[in-house]
Amino acid sequence: MPHKFETQTIHAGQEPDPQTGAIMTPVYLTSTYVQDAVGKTRGYEYSRTGNPTRAALEACLAALEGAKHGLAFASGMAATDAVLRLFGPGDHILAGNDVYGGTFRLFDKELSRYGFKFDFVNPRDPAQIEAALRPETRLVWLETPTNPYLGIVDLPAVAKVLKSHSARPLLAVDNTFATPYLQQPLALGADFVIHSTTKYLGGHSDVVGGAVLLNDDTHFERLAFLQNGVGAVPGPMDCFLVLRGLKTLHVRMDRHAANAAAIGDFLANHPKVETIYYPFHDSHPQQRLAQKQMRNGGGMVSFEVRGGAAAARKVAEATRIFALAESLGGVESIIEVPAAMTHLSTAGSPLEVKPNLVRLSVGIEHLDDLLSDLDTALKQA
Ligand SMILES: *Cc1c(COP(=O)(O)O)cnc(C)c1O
Repeated sequence: MPHKFETQTIHAGQEPDPQTGAIMTPVYLTSTYVQDAVGKTRGYEYSRTGNPTRAALEACLAALEGAKHGLAFASGMAATDAVLRLFGPGDHILAGNDVYGGTFRLFDKELSRYGFKFDFVNPRDPAQIEAALRPETRLVWLETPTNPYLGIVDLPAVAKVLKSHSARPLLAVDNTFATPYLQQPLALGADFVIHSTTKYLGGHSDVVGGAVLLNDDTHFERLAFLQNGVGAVPGPMDCFLVLRGLKTLHVRMDRHAANAAAIGDFLANHPKVETIYYPFHDSHPQQRLAQKQMRNGGGMVSFEVRGGAAAARKVAEATRIFALAESLGGVESIIEVPAAMTHLSTAGSPLEVKPNLVRLSVGIEHLDDLLSDLDTALKQA
């Protein structure tokens, strides 16, 4: 019987070092491997192609997502780019209209130059996805919860639509916000799971990385070819840092979510706040779906401040514990204004976000300190 998730985060893909008994996976800082005879390797020949620290990370991530195969990349964007390279000129790719700003930029500004055709739809409504499919649609790219509005996509419903459509498009889910602790998209009908391991999986804001997890052997072979052939691989130290972060994933996610839920309640009742977005909050229109699909509501909370863009900026600049920064998923709390920071590249597009929106990545500090920090900042808005 496979071990439970909380055991796999600590042990999957990792055996004590056979030579020394070292309990932690060694950081194999080597570019090449000595061969016992010409062409006779011990499983590794060159570190772009394979590295034991990376192999441990790939096996651990695959186990956590319930996947047959795992591939680590130098960043979430490199992982995204690798999946897109499975497709080509003339292929139609449908994406959610609430995706990570960098994903939108890669699709819209770069890959569209090579003959990829993109459309962006509201992913919360499977009927709109179905209506936007074309005979040449090869891939549907989604995030859930979405960023920055934290909408929920009904993954089994979308998977059902795609499997019954004649074009049979594949489903890719960027699971960065939820992590496999909250939801495992492959089990819900996805073909690819993509991660920015920079965020919750690493968890300590000290590494940039990405991953693709999947079951299909043919796509795995092609992606492994791209991983080596294009070369956007993570170094062994980066892999070690993500492996170390993974060991506490479940403990961190429980605290992130407990703090975020309480902050959502606090903000929902605050006179300076117009609207809050948190998947498990009573005010969220998809609360039931979120509760069905996710183990908890996660660590991200967005809210609209009364007083427009200026008020949102003031709040984001006035907090002392919440650091004003891009990124998310670390143990420390972060605040940002998406319209002016992470989602700047969506300005003027259908993906544009409201100027008074503030996004929080709620950390695992003491809740009282976080609440009083936000309260003080909101008073200055
Ligand atoms: C950060 C992020 C990415 C990009 O990952 P990098 O590691 O920064 O390249 C992709 N998707 C989501 C949802 C993200 O938050």
